[in-house]
Amino acid sequence: MPKMTLPRPLNLIGGAWVPPRSGHEMDVVSPLDGAAFASIADSDAADIDAAVAAARAALAGDWGRLSATDRGRLLMRYAAAILDHADELAAIETRDNGKPLAQARADMVLTARYFEYYGGAADKVHGEVIPFQRGTTVQMTREPHGVTGHIVPWNYPAQIYGRSVGAALAMGNACVLKPAEDACLSILRLAEIANEILPPGALNVVTGRGDVAGKALSEHRGVDFLSFTGSPEVGQMIQIAAARNFIGCTLELGGKSPQIVFDDADLEAAVPVLANAIIQNGGQTCSAGSRVLIQRGIWDDLTARLAERFRAVEASPADGSLLGPLISAKQKRRVETYIAEAGVPVLAQGRVAGNAPAGGFYVAPVLLGPVDPNSRIAQEEVFGPVLCAIPFDTEAEAIEIANGTEYGLVASVWTRDGGRQARVANAMRCGQVFINGYGAGGGVELPFGGIRKSGHGREKGFEALHEFSTIRTIVNHHG
Ligand code: NAD
Repeated sequence: MPKMTLPRPLNLIGGAWVPPRSGHEMDVVSPLDGAAFASIADSDAADIDAAVAAARAALAGDWGRLSATDRGRLLMRYAAAILDHADELAAIETRDNGKPLAQARADMVLTARYFEYYGGAADKVHGEVIPFQRGTTVQMTREPHGVTGHIVPWNYPAQIYGRSVGAALAMGNACVLKPAEDACLSILRLAEIANEILPPGALNVVTGRGDVAGKALSEHRGVDFLSFTGSPEVGQMIQIAAARNFIGCTLELGGKSPQIVFDDADLEAAVPVLANAIIQNGGQTCSAGSRVLIQRGIWDDLTARLAERFRAVEASPADGSLLGPLISAKQKRRVETYIAEAGVPVLAQGRVAGNAPAGGFYVAPVLLGPVDPNSRIAQEEVFGPVLCAIPFDTEAEAIEIANGTEYGLVASVWTRDGGRQARVANAMRCGQVFINGYGAGGGVELPFGGIRKSGHGREKGFEALHEFSTIRTIVNHHG
């Protein structure tokens, strides 16, 4: 394991590391073994107040005065610094979140990529000149919202921090971020690195509980826009809080994403992708491919191939493991309850490694099927390594099942038939569709987000720059 410096229980406010006003701290537990190994600030509304004030001051100060080009340069410098610290950051992430070291390292490379991408984009967000009445010139510009509030989850702490804060900073906003209490140490270390590069107050990080610090941030009258990733239940609260303050928000709330496999599909290519889409990060991925819809003619063949994969997976703390522990005892219980109550045949199950510490939150991956598409296990987000296999006969039936949940985040279609590729992809009611592939995570350049219970608004790509800005139109009557 590379050398790491664990962050202390402090918040980053206005460029300084300060203890929470209450003096309270919370233990940080490692999912690898269930042991407490660090502590973070248990902050409250007073700390959020201070952070929002610091962000406001940054907008009026050095940060607000930077040109778009200079903002971009700072973000690109930050990207390079993240890569320089990637091994150390990955080690912190593995200890804090439990994900295998190789996955954590990949997360850090992607986190850097967000700042590189948005750094490069900062001075390429052009306005428009709109043809209007004779004797006028109309210019439309994209302006930062001001202070943006970011509430991020524990599943990909560093990556989601990068995608959210990267786009907001590129547009010139000043950020206040509340990471998840279950995993936030990588973000604190990333903020330490940022603090050596960005002007004070451009980025403020306050840790604490969701229903205290998170709630205070979402309701704060000094916040001009909110970006939230997490559960639909909390997402709804965020939207209500945003409405009360007449501000906008983006919500990224997870999914029940289908992969549809037709009987002419290239199964050699599909099988590893189908398995990885649910096993990666222990299935704790908003865009996990948690349902596989299989045309009846290849049911036996494909389920047998998937079963072989699942049986070979071992949940383990090893650096190169495909599957680490889940995030918490609560999440482990939740996933095990879903499996126990599914009432569906287990087609295959992996195992927990013999050397996995007993206190860790390990769950063996499970392939279930045939699953009724309307059953609870096929409708609700489990957020664990549980794949539901669902048989279908016709293209129309596959489309209906794929669209038949309250979610709509990602989908994929596996077929060699070009007409069917286009028809099915166009029929998907969700934010992203893959043809003969799947992209759970990754794709910094690709707009990402959902519809309905998966949330609204788009992160990633240039679209995120639009979300983190507002339009001003100036009409000049010059005669
Ligand atoms: P959560 O929604 O409670 O937590 C996400 C973030 O919201 C955390 O930073 C948390 O501190 C904050 N939060 C919690 N309550 C809040 C409140 N009242 N006001 C403001 N912020 C608040 O998610 P969870 O309980 O950690 O996980 C529960 C389920 O949510 C998971 O099993 C999974 O299904 C889903 N989830 C989805 C994603 C995703 O990427 N879409 C991420 C995490 C969890």
